[in-house]
Amino acid sequence: MSQSDNSIPKEAAPATLTHNQSVLATLPFGDTQDFEDAKRGFIASLPEVEIKNERGQVAWSLRDYAFLGHEEAPPTVNPSLWRQARLNMHNGLFQVTDRIYQVRGFDISNMTIIEGGQGIIVIDPLVSTETARAALDLYFSHRGRRPVVAVIYSHSHTDHYGGVKGVIDEADVRAGKVAVIAPDRFLEEITQETVLAGGPMIRRALFQFGPTLAKGPRGQVDAGLGKTTSSGTVTLIPPTQYIREPVEAHTIDGVEIVFQLTPDTEAKAEMHMFYPGLKALNLAENSTHNLHNIYPIRGAQVRDANLWAKYLNEALDRYAPEAEVVFAQHHWPVWGNRRVKDFLSKQRDGYKFLHDQTLRLINHGYSAAEIAETLNIPASLPRDSHLRHYT
Ligand SMILES: [Zn+2]
Repeated sequence: MSQSDNSIPKEAAPATLTHNQSVLATLPFGDTQDFEDAKRGFIASLPEVEIKNERGQVAWSLRDYAFLGHEEAPPTVNPSLWRQARLNMHNGLFQVTDRIYQVRGFDISNMTIIEGGQGIIVIDPLVSTETARAALDLYFSHRGRRPVVAVIYSHSHTDHYGGVKGVIDEADVRAGKVAVIAPDRFLEEITQETVLAGGPMIRRALFQFGPTLAKGPRGQVDAGLGKTTSSGTVTLIPPTQYIREPVEAHTIDGVEIVFQLTPDTEAKAEMHMFYPGLKALNLAENSTHNLHNIYPIRGAQVRDANLWAKYLNEALDRYAPEAEVVFAQHHWPVWGNRRVKDFLSKQRDGYKFLHDQTLRLINHGYSAAEIAETLNIPASLPRDSHLRHYT
């Protein structure tokens, strides 16, 4: 077979068809709660989400994903991925609860905005300045222009800080007008992951998230956590304030925030936030609507699934009794106290199960590949949504 034959996307092979059919038969696709939650609180979006840099090059576009308008998965795409890809098409400004808003679908991650007494607090300014500025402008155009008084980085991955210079000016930070808050060891962990090992990891991230692939049912469909990564200008402003204690409470612009450090979980430096006055819990990237990778194929540091479960359990104990909504810096929220507890306890159980059962099989002499083929999330945990894996 010539090289050019290999470069042409093909029809689904019989084995792929059989597998995709079995996914359709085993998962409860009739449950549409996630679709209800993904659109709840929608305020507005842009007529067409296509964001360009100063040279007119496209940094982010949803235009090429129009093929996801079909409800039924095509033969070449796993129906579970297709479902996730359609959920990740919900884009624009959303109200989460009183004073809390999110811009979703403007990058792989979410920007969360909290309205304070004098201005706004921006949590996680996306991957690049172009998408971050567009997201904040969307918020301003519907909620009014107010100064950004603080930026909070929930953790040390690029999709949670890279667009910071699109939302604040470094001179304002130096002048003490804007606080930049981050978890303990934030800069050290960025240095380790994206400077020392940065070259190969950034290159491998292209394989993990597929931003340069053609979009389509035989090309790139979705990255699980969101569509893909934007390709604009990545920046960083060093924090002015670190959260160093396991739990710290601060009032920022009139908003009480309880920070819970969760080191060595989804990121080496990461933290949850609970907003007691707003009965809202932000789990950064430790509980999203997919099973997160423990070892990312781009070569980021291995995560500790046992600690991950421990910190989710602490969040469940400390904050879930009061929480009416839980959300993260990817995907859509879960509303209602009963559902918050159910979601959080199943997420905790999922990561704990992965850790404990992997160890058990190692003790029985299985290799890594054999364990991956053997281990399945048990039927007692949800099989269709927030514990399914995509990347
Ligand atoms: Zn992320």
